[in-house]
Amino acid sequence: MNRVKVYKKANGKKNMVIRAYKFRLYPNKEQRKGMQTHLWLSKNLWNGGLEFAKQLYKDYEKFPTRQTYQEISKNSGLHSQVAQDVFIRLHMALKAKIRRKKAGLKGGFPRFKSIDRVKSLHYPQSGFSLKERKLKVSPFGEINIKKHGEVEGTIKTLTLKRESSDKWYAILTAETEPINVPRKEGEQIGIDLGLMTFATVSNGEQIKKPKHMKIYEDRLADAQRDLSKKKLRSMNRRKAKLKVARVYAKVADTRKDWLHKTANSLISRYSVIVLEDLDVQGIAEEHGKGVNDAGWSIFTNIISYKAESAGCEVVFVNPKNTSKDCSRCGICVPKELWERQHGCPFCGLIMDRDLNAAINILNRCLKAKLSDRQETKFPGATVGTTESNACEDETIVSSMKQEAITSAQAKLW
Ligand SMILES: [Zn+2]
Repeated sequence: MNRVKVYKKANGKKNMVIRAYKFRLYPNKEQRKGMQTHLWLSKNLWNGGLEFAKQLYKDYEKFPTRQTYQEISKNSGLHSQVAQDVFIRLHMALKAKIRRKKAGLKGGFPRFKSIDRVKSLHYPQSGFSLKERKLKVSPFGEINIKKHGEVEGTIKTLTLKRESSDKWYAILTAETEPINVPRKEGEQIGIDLGLMTFATVSNGEQIKKPKHMKIYEDRLADAQRDLSKKKLRSMNRRKAKLKVARVYAKVADTRKDWLHKTANSLISRYSVIVLEDLDVQGIAEEHGKGVNDAGWSIFTNIISYKAESAGCEVVFVNPKNTSKDCSRCGICVPKELWERQHGCPFCGLIMDRDLNAAINILNRCLKAKLSDRQETKFPGATVGTTESNACEDETIVSSMKQEAITSAQAKLW
C-alpha cells in the first residue's frame, strides 16, 4: 500500500483532496547518520520546549508565544521547517491540555520523549523537492527514492519517517481537485466500533476480527513478554527488540489489510455510513472508548478517504451517550462497560448494547440532516475553515489543524 487520501476543505472555498504517498528511501551512510542525528535534535527541541513551557505555566500560568518558540529553535541545529513543526505540535498538545482543563477533564502536560518515540521529521511547506529518482531534502542532499507511480497535484508537505525495522520512508502529501462521482443509492447505516465485536451495523450485521489476526496479536504479546524479561543493554535484549519490531510489522500489515477489505465491503454496499467522531476526545474516553486503539482511527481514516471516490457519504456524529441512550424512546439508560445488553425500563426495548448504539449513531445523522445539517460533520470539514486572519493565534490554529491532518496521515503507516 503506497498511498492514501484524506479530504479537507481548503480555505473554506471548495473541497480539495489531499493524497498522501509513501515511498521507500535509500539514504547513504552519511545521510542515514544525518537524519538520525536530526531525530535526536528534534527530541531535544521538544523536551527543551516542553520544559520551558511547563516552567512558564508554573510561574505565570501562561504558555510561550510563537515568537518565543522561534527564538528557542534558532540554534536547534534543525532545518527551520522541521523545528517549526516540532513547536506547532507542542503548541497543539498544550492547547489540548487547556481544552481538557476547561471541560473539567483530567489530562496533564504532553510527555517528554525518549529517542525511541521520535520517528519522523516533518517539513510543513518547503525544504525539499522531488525528482525522478531522488528526493532533495535540506540539509541531507539528494536521497535515493523508489517511487511507485506519480504524485498527482501540488506537493505540500514531506515527512521523513524511520520505522522500527530501521527503514526510512518519505511521506509526501499533495493537493488536487476532487473527482466528481455521482452519489449512489442504497441503504444508510450507522456503525458502532466496539471492544467485543469490531463493528456492529445498525441493520444487525456484525463484523468480527478474523481469527488469524488474533493469532498474530498473541504472538506479538509473547514477543513483548520475552523482551521484558531480557537484561537491559544485553545482546539478547537487542535481539528480542528486533523480534518485537518484526512481529509488530506483521500484525500492523495484517490488520491494515483486513481493515481495507472491511472498509471496501461496507462502501460497496451502503450509500451513507455514519460513524462516531472519535476525535471528540474526552467524550470518547469517558465512554471507555479511548482513541488510542489504532484499529479504529485507521479504520475511520480508510473509510473516509475511500468513500468519496465510490460515491458513498461518510458522516461523523457526536459520540456522547450513544451506548446509553435508548434507540427507541431516546431516554438515557446508564450502563457499565461490561453490560452487554440494553434494557430500557421506560419503553421496554431489549437489544444488544452495540446494536442499540449503532442505531443511535445512524439516527443522529438522520436527525441532523433533517434539522439543517447542523450537527453533521464531514471528514475534514473542520479543517482550515478559519476565515479570520485578524488574530494571529487563529491563523496558527488553522494551520495547525492542517498539520494535524498530515500527521494523522503519517500515523496511518
Ligand atoms: Zn426506551
